[in-house]
Amino acid sequence: AIAPVPRLDPAIPVDAAPATALAELEAREITAWFGNHKVLDRVSLTMPAGGITALIGPSGCGKSTFLRILNRMHELVPSARLAGEVLLDGEDIYDPGKRLIDARRSIGMVFQKPNPFPAMSIRENVLAGLKLTGTKMRGSDKDLLVESCLVKGGLWNEVKDRLDAPGGGLSGGQQQRLCIARSLAIRPRVLLMDEPCSALDPTSTRVIEETMLDLAREVTIVIVTHNMQQAARVSDQCAFFLAAQGQPGVIVEHGDTTAMFQGPQDPRTYDYVNGRF
Ligand code: ADP
Ligand code: MG
Repeated sequence: AIAPVPRLDPAIPVDAAPATALAELEAREITAWFGNHKVLDRVSLTMPAGGITALIGPSGCGKSTFLRILNRMHELVPSARLAGEVLLDGEDIYDPGKRLIDARRSIGMVFQKPNPFPAMSIRENVLAGLKLTGTKMRGSDKDLLVESCLVKGGLWNEVKDRLDAPGGGLSGGQQQRLCIARSLAIRPRVLLMDEPCSALDPTSTRVIEETMLDLAREVTIVIVTHNMQQAARVSDQCAFFLAAQGQPGVIVEHGDTTAMFQGPQDPRTYDYVNGRF
C-alpha cells in the first residue's frame, strides 16, 4: 500500500516572512534565439494565479527554453537573445530597473534530474536558498521553515528523524521532493517544473503530483510534461507547443485541459494528445 501523502497543515507556522498573494504570470510575444537560430516565435501565454499550467509538445519545440525565459535563466547562455515581455502580476521581470535576484527569488525552478546538494544535509539543502538570496533568519525560525517546506514538499514524514543525513542518500523521488522543498524555502510566487517526474518511478510520480495539487493553493505552477495522463491529472490549462521542420516553436493551441483533451480544435493537437506523432 502507498503511504498517504501528508496534507498542508495550517497549524504549522510558515516562517518569519509575510505571506505573499498568488501571482499571475504572463508571457507576451516571446521570441527567442540561440545565435541566429530562432527557437520560439511570438509565444504568448497567461498562467493564472494559483493554477497549474502544463506545457506539452514534442522534444525540441522550445518548452524548456520558454520555461527558462520565465525566470531569466535563458540569459545565462551567451548566444541567447530574447524579445517580448514576462509580466509577474503586471510587472515586467526584464525591466532594466528590476534586479535579477528579485525575479529568481519570486520564481523557483525544479529540473528533470533531481539535483540536491548531495553532501549537504537534508536540512541544509532546504535552507540553501536563504544564503543565496541573503535572507537572515533565527535558528528557531529556520527549524520551522525546514519543517513547513518539507511538509509542503511531501517529504517530512519520511525524513523528520534524519534531517542531518546527506541529501544524496535519499531515493530519486525523495531527492526530487527535497528539491521542491528547497525551492519553496525562498517563498517563490511561481514554481516552474521541467519534466519533474520523467526520471522517477510511478509511485514517486504520484506523490509529486499530489504535492503539486496541494501547492497550487499558494504557488502558481507551470509544468513541462511528456506524460499526457499527468497533464490531464494535474493541470487546469494546457498549452501545446509545436515546431514544424526547421521552424521555431509556437503554441498551436491552449486552453482548459479537459476541453483540450476531449475536443482539441487543431488536428495536430488531436494527433499529439492521442499519441499519434
Ligand atoms: P524542448 O524542451 O521542447 O525539448 P528546448 O527548449 O530544449 O526544447 O530546445 C528548443 C530548441 O533550442 C532546440 O532546437 C534546441 O536544440 C535549441 N537549444 C536549446 N538549448 C540550447 C542552447 N543552450 N544552445 C543552443 N541551442 C539550444
Ligand atoms: Mg525540454
